[in-house]
Amino acid sequence: MIQRTFVMVKPDGVQRKLAGEIIGRFERRGLRLAGMKMLRVSRELAEAHYAAHKGKPFFGELVDFITSGPVVAMVWEGEDAVLLVRNMMGALKPAEAQPGSIRGDFTASIQMNVVHGSSDPAAADEEVALWFSEDELV
Ligand code: ATP
Ligand code: MG
Repeated sequence: MIQRTFVMVKPDGVQRKLAGEIIGRFERRGLRLAGMKMLRVSRELAEAHYAAHKGKPFFGELVDFITSGPVVAMVWEGEDAVLLVRNMMGALKPAEAQPGSIRGDFTASIQMNVVHGSSDPAAADEEVALWFSEDELV
């Protein structure tokens, strides 16, 4: 099934100049870029994006991190794009992120992990709508 998924190069990824590397991986894999913008994330947007984690001990730190510098927000489209992107990103736990995945190649931190991708199709629809208006998508 053709899906759209929300992907973000997090502030650490932009700061480390990994945006091009990350975007290139999705391009070379054959996904279609349906929207992209660089922005500084407001606390309101960060809290809405990570609403599922509200109340967890790392929530405050997570919002501080995601608002700490510009991010690159994107929508990628393709066959089973949600799971495909998650697999390309690698696992959350650094020791479980396989070499060859984005996290497995570029980070050993559970928080500063360079990339976000929607976790499932319902979250993808919500996140695409939260971050992009229809006229920003092609
Ligand atoms: P993301 O949602 O960013 O794609 P994920 O789905 O792999 O990552 P989640 O469980 O949704 O992981 O956690 C969201 C983000 O919160 C993580 O990417 C990470 O930046 C941060 N985070 C998660 N768990 C922890 C933790 N135990 N300590 C610090 N930060 C954490
Ligand atoms: Mg998640």
